[in-house]
Amino acid sequence: MAYPESGAGSEPESSEALQVLHRVFGYDSFRGNQADIIDHVCTGGDALVLMPTGGGKSLCYQIPALVREGVGVVVSPLIALMQDQVDALTALGVRAGFLNSTQDFEQRRRVESAFRSGELDLLYLAPERLKVESTLRLLENGKISLFAIDEAHCVAQWGHDFRPDYLALSTLHERWPEVPRIALTATATEATHSEIAFRLNLGEARHFVASFDRPNIQYRIAPKNEPKKQLLDLLRTEHPGEAGIVYCLSRASVEKTADFLVDNGIQALPYHAGLDARVRAANQSRFLREDGMVMVATIAFGMGIDKPDVRFVAHLDLPKSVEGYYQETGRAGRDGQPSTAWLAYGLQDVVQQRKMIDTSEGDDAHRRRLGTHLDAMLALCETVTCRRVQLLAYFGQDSSACGNCDTCLTPPESWDGTIAAQKLLSTVFRLAEERHQKFGAGQIIDILLGKTTPKVSQHNHDSLKVFGIGTELRDTEWRGVVRQLLAQRLLAVEGDYGTLVLTDTSAEVLRREREVLLRREPERTARATKTAKSRGKAAAVDMPASANADFELLRAWRGASAKEQGVPAYVIFHDATLRQIATERPATLSALGTVSGVGENKLAKYGQQILDTLAG
Ligand code: ADP
Ligand code: ZN
Repeated sequence: MAYPESGAGSEPESSEALQVLHRVFGYDSFRGNQADIIDHVCTGGDALVLMPTGGGKSLCYQIPALVREGVGVVVSPLIALMQDQVDALTALGVRAGFLNSTQDFEQRRRVESAFRSGELDLLYLAPERLKVESTLRLLENGKISLFAIDEAHCVAQWGHDFRPDYLALSTLHERWPEVPRIALTATATEATHSEIAFRLNLGEARHFVASFDRPNIQYRIAPKNEPKKQLLDLLRTEHPGEAGIVYCLSRASVEKTADFLVDNGIQALPYHAGLDARVRAANQSRFLREDGMVMVATIAFGMGIDKPDVRFVAHLDLPKSVEGYYQETGRAGRDGQPSTAWLAYGLQDVVQQRKMIDTSEGDDAHRRRLGTHLDAMLALCETVTCRRVQLLAYFGQDSSACGNCDTCLTPPESWDGTIAAQKLLSTVFRLAEERHQKFGAGQIIDILLGKTTPKVSQHNHDSLKVFGIGTELRDTEWRGVVRQLLAQRLLAVEGDYGTLVLTDTSAEVLRREREVLLRREPERTARATKTAKSRGKAAAVDMPASANADFELLRAWRGASAKEQGVPAYVIFHDATLRQIATERPATLSALGTVSGVGENKLAKYGQQILDTLAG
């Protein structure tokens, strides 16, 4: 029996799983389809699990590993996080270890011998380990209860996190045909889903697809004006002192943004692949361990980060796909508390991304795939309907307007932009036909507005028939028109200078065969958020103001213990657990044991300290 005290084995599996949930994890009940998944794997079935970030995937293999005989082998690409994962399990009294390249010979030997003698419940492995014959031989010398393949989308070339080492995992069931396999991912388009099933040889596996909605996350996409200032505004007004992640496209902008935030009194750290590995590890560790830290990063950061209290994820550049965007934003609010996903997006993003696709390596099919991803992302940015409805539809899920995204809170208007589009497209057309010239958006807009800039005079553009025909819109509005025409592929960009050119479909607009519907930005997108915030908060653990002092005492105690043990604070207890303790003020150990998140091991280890802290 993997877990030493787990009953006599006469119970049906499901109730044994429930006991483990209560005793080890201290939780009352399973969430969503956790119970079905766990039941299926406990009885030896293969499973493919699609669940959003924060949905509770870990329990789906951890509990079967505790219930079934043998060691659960977890394949994960996240070497840097294995120590934290093992620490978190150890804190629960689960016997866990890992094998990866960061260990010395002696450390590895100890884990290997624990594995062989059946003294582990869970063993974490990097995928490249499974290519090494000695690892495979080791695994054959122990008893394996299951294989869990975490971040399973890494096997999919269609997706955005492809790792060649994952392809080798398809052979696991040839070597261990009787060991159940459970593959898990938070990435869930139909294409990725079927590619995972195909590549991992999970044809017979049962598929479990959870709802992808993350109701506590408020989605907002704002027009990009002064991005750094907009970001600072967001952090100061809505998330002061709170932890969050800011994503930037380039290493340079990561550095600049982090410096800017620090200069403005915000605790921020940079993270990108160009930093020294030690600096990266130190920054990640500070982000996980210290309260209220902001991580400014490229998308190299975040996979597998299971910090529960990330309150916001901000994107200063347009993500390359909806899948990537959803996964990155999903890192906010794993604890179910209200959180913000904010993206600033502008004309330059479209120009830049189209250029990156045009010049990307790989064949045409690859470029087309990138183009499809970008189009879906742009459609999300330009939608006049609920963002969440669009997002969930992208993952094949129907829903209705959410009331907790910017388009629901401050609905944008749509307007008939056909005439504006015609004016703009015919300016591009005339420059090409009459002058054999191509220009970027700036010059085209100056011509439309009839501005006699030096560049306009130099090229004699004030003599064009279209000069000054667009004064009904402001400069920023014209930029919005260009952006949306690019998004709708009625206009394209070319070359290093982002010059505008017509597409196959532009002519339909010029010939009045096609109407163009555009989105008008509401004046202030970010303001109407109060109602939604309080709405979300109601769902969180309600803590009366009188409990605040106790909550702070408990937090201080937790901080000191975490420091002493060198683990993140949330490994000891989550905020939600401390809030419930502060509210209920349990006077006995058994009363404390009923609080969600207080399992047997933590009760034994910390129970008395908590009662003492409350007694003051
Ligand atoms: P995922 O891996 O799907 O992103 P996790 O497994 O990290 O999600 O779970 C997210 C959070 O929810 C964790 O803090 C976890 O402890 C908590 N959780 C998971 N299942 C339950 C449950 N049945 N009851 C209460 N909390 C749960
Ligand atoms: Zn909505």
